[in-house]
Amino acid sequence: MSIFGRESSRAEGRFEAWLKRMHRERVFSGETEPAGPCPDEAFLQGVARRSKKIRLSDPRIDHAANCANCMNRILVMRQNISAERRKLAFGLAAACLVLIAGMAGWSRYEMHHRQMIASVVPVSATVDLWSTGTFRGEQPAQLQSVSLPSAAVRLTIILPRFSSGGQYLIAVTRDQSGNGVIAEGFASATASNGQARVSLDLDLRSAKAGEYFLSTTHEQDQAAYYYPLQIKDCASK
Ligand SMILES: [Zn+2]
Repeated sequence: MSIFGRESSRAEGRFEAWLKRMHRERVFSGETEPAGPCPDEAFLQGVARRSKKIRLSDPRIDHAANCANCMNRILVMRQNISAERRKLAFGLAAACLVLIAGMAGWSRYEMHHRQMIASVVPVSATVDLWSTGTFRGEQPAQLQSVSLPSAAVRLTIILPRFSSGGQYLIAVTRDQSGNGVIAEGFASATASNGQARVSLDLDLRSAKAGEYFLSTTHEQDQAAYYYPLQIKDCASK
């Protein structure tokens, strides 16, 4: 470390570089007398890589510093080493880019995946059939505002008065004969506040907005009751 600060150390560096260049010129012009034979390739590689295994007191260092042949070999090796390091740095940078691109792709996939899951989270809906007639064959009175969104729906149906307990088949169909089933599922009736109700998930995402029928069929009764149902676009629910 220099007490003269940065400027001075830069000047020292320049002076050292000049000394090295002068020395190299002397070596290459054959003005120096290398002592002993040329060391092997492995040793010169060690010098070029500034290996810590090589001690500066090693007489082969002294030879290499004064031998035009060895110095030339070391200079070529150093060039190759820095080219290798550049390549390695470039490779690392490329790997980083690939990693970043991969992470970006993954996070996009994750977001998409999360949106997919979010879109499948069922919409809760309740249909109240409590006041509708349960007389078989009778066209039920037009239900007021019975509509469901064209989405995955977690549907709760309050069954008509006097409905019996047990299993029900719940379906959304195109017509009153049970044709064109959009979605269906079984659910057990549970009593709550003196009313029988069934709850189930119905996937109505494939249904286009329009007029449909909601049907309930009791496991023992086997007769289906149809109720007019309107499916609305998810956005305009
Ligand atoms: Zn030599």
